[in-house]
Amino acid sequence: MTPQPNPQVGAAVKAADRAHVFHSWSAQELIDPLAVAGAEGSYFWDYEGKRYLDFTSGLVFTNIGYQHPKVVAAIQEQAATLSTFAPAFAIEARSEAARLIAERTPGDLDKIFFTNGGAEAVENATRMARLHTGRPKILSAYRSYHGATSTAINLTGDPRRWPNDIGAAGVVHFWAPFLYRSPFHAENERQECERALQHLEDTIAFEGPATIAAVILETIPGTAGIMTPPPGYLAGVREICDRYGIVFVLDEVMAGFGRTGKWFAADHYDVTPDLMTFAKGVNSGYVPLGGVAISSEIAETFARRPYPGGLTYSGHPLACAAAVATINVMEEEGIVEQAARIGETVLGPGLRELAERHPSVGEVRGTGVFWALELVKDRETREPLVPYNAAGTDNAPMAAFGATAKAHGLWPFINMNRTHVVPPCNVTEGEAKEGLAVLDMALSIADEHTV
Ligand code: PMP
Repeated sequence: MTPQPNPQVGAAVKAADRAHVFHSWSAQELIDPLAVAGAEGSYFWDYEGKRYLDFTSGLVFTNIGYQHPKVVAAIQEQAATLSTFAPAFAIEARSEAARLIAERTPGDLDKIFFTNGGAEAVENATRMARLHTGRPKILSAYRSYHGATSTAINLTGDPRRWPNDIGAAGVVHFWAPFLYRSPFHAENERQECERALQHLEDTIAFEGPATIAAVILETIPGTAGIMTPPPGYLAGVREICDRYGIVFVLDEVMAGFGRTGKWFAADHYDVTPDLMTFAKGVNSGYVPLGGVAISSEIAETFARRPYPGGLTYSGHPLACAAAVATINVMEEEGIVEQAARIGETVLGPGLRELAERHPSVGEVRGTGVFWALELVKDRETREPLVPYNAAGTDNAPMAAFGATAKAHGLWPFINMNRTHVVPPCNVTEGEAKEGLAVLDMALSIADEHTV
């Protein structure tokens, strides 16, 4: 329902926020958060009554949009019957959520360990890998995001840590493929794939295979730029991991649950990891939930020896009831198929058409409702439109791009020199086209900063 405009309440909400809320990823005095009055489907409203089309899905989690009535009702019903219960008990919402997730995860990933979000899923997956193998090191990619807890932020390969933020023991980074800014100076996908696999093998050889518990990768790295891997890469990593007895962890926190037009991004590549992390889309973020899907071989390690880990709210009934309702809604309404169709027929062609006309677009990448536009100063040199971690005046071109989009009612996802186009999986054709039209205007502003 469209909320009534109420600027006075909006101002009070904002004042309390500024006085007391310490925001993530922010210089506290340099931010100006929008006060949000309500949301529905693909849209949200501020207290002035201005409507925004959400091309961010929150933080890429509202895969079925805001306030889906069936999911809201399921949460209300669960709250009325059993709003909370400790994780050691069998609870209908929890066992049903685990069954629905396990039925959709690839291969034999049939046991589900629940967490409250993605970072905790990554913490537990890497811990399981260490316990299972008896080995200490975890290999993860530069240009990756795995969460902001202690190990997860150190596995994360984004260049965003402060120098005094000491690393976690046993984390080793390697380069995953990304042809547009190839770490291997490759000229085509086949070369990029071969060189990336050789580099991973070399890293393993120099670190010592017997010291490596796991390789963790996002199936399609999200936050770092939606970098679809070249054909054969993930299958190659699977083969290398098998050869050295290394656990292969795929992080599907962002790419999972329909975002790429399949239930999981791994389904595009026919690979089954040993552990798979998920969160976000599992219940569209209506109540915090994440987890690890575990292979039968790794589950066996903990069959007669306790897994020495757990969380007070693991598999919280409200979160699990939301997951059951979300997955059922996704099936009933064909939402995964809708994401694939919108990607193929509207977003893919529409974004490529924009790239043809706007010199600021260096590359369009993606699938389903998971797209990135890489903005550049110069298409020839591929110099990014703004430097990495740009701030202040350095960031002006991206800030101007974002302000133009917002002025025309589109809330864009902006990270460094990229805008990610990540609307809900059930975004309609009309909404997707509305967003593309605003992007067209905003890109004209970015074009002014090209050479
Ligand atoms: N892994 C990936 C791939 C993610 O995209 C994210 C969140 N953006 C996380 C882990 C961390 O999830 P959370 O913020 O729920 O801890």
